[in-house]
Amino acid sequence: MKKIFPQPSLLFALLLFLSNCSLFEEEEVIPVDPVEIDETKGSEHLLLGNPSEAEAIEILANNYLSEKPQFALSYNDSRGIPNWVSWHLSSRWLGSTSRTDDFLPDFDLPFANNRIDRRDYSGSGFDRGHNCPSADRTSSRKDNAVTFLMSNVIPQAPEHNQKMWNEMEIFTRDQVRRNGNEVYVIMGNYGEGGEGRFGMEKRIGDDKQVAVPKYIWKVVVIIGEGDDDLSRIDERTRVIAVLTENLNRDVKEWHEYRVSVDAIEKETGLDLLSEVPEEIQAVIEAKVDNGPF
Ligand code: MN
Ligand code: MN
Repeated sequence: MKKIFPQPSLLFALLLFLSNCSLFEEEEVIPVDPVEIDETKGSEHLLLGNPSEAEAIEILANNYLSEKPQFALSYNDSRGIPNWVSWHLSSRWLGSTSRTDDFLPDFDLPFANNRIDRRDYSGSGFDRGHNCPSADRTSSRKDNAVTFLMSNVIPQAPEHNQKMWNEMEIFTRDQVRRNGNEVYVIMGNYGEGGEGRFGMEKRIGDDKQVAVPKYIWKVVVIIGEGDDDLSRIDERTRVIAVLTENLNRDVKEWHEYRVSVDAIEKETGLDLLSEVPEEIQAVIEAKVDNGPF
């Protein structure tokens, strides 16, 4: 009989090769209990304000406030990603826990029909980009696990995520680890259409539930370690704001993208640092940081 297929061993080798190919990178999903939230910690993350006046009421589906002990966020159900994530970083959040690396749906969110899970990003050409970084929450395994909730994730261009964003995250952590500071960080995004490994995409996921942001921004407020943080923010406080495009090429260093907080507020309609007294806000939001990095 004439052979239609190659040798079985060859066929096996081909299958083995294909299964290692990125086209077939679909990860096995292990069911895990939802991350338990420790209600005794938290609330420090909105000390400088709630930029969109998000609330935990279901009709505010596109500005839904979710406060975790580890960070606070405004979720946008029609985009399948957060509008912004806000967190306090001090030495007490930094320890030696390793990356749990287990991306999970956020079961705290009431939007069950449109719950985003890790597979919505698989094969998309975009990284699962943390807002609050895994490495900012290493004091306990649970704290770290919460950063892997998909509500803390956006589709981020790999070059953007792994280069400039990672470097800005390291710079920010070093402010705490080495320089005796504590910081408040807010990261957000807006617009639709970013560049992944396979080119421009507006939305990803089986049902295109996940918007790919066009712009990604971050604001970092740096103060010396101490108590009563809000009262220690004044006209001289260092505030670093960056506004970047979610692109996969020509990615420059993060500090090349510095803008004023006012510029981000103008683009997004948010009120950042709203708990800081108006006179001080006016000064620190108008400046563009030119400090060392
Ligand atoms: Mn990242
Ligand atoms: Mn403001």
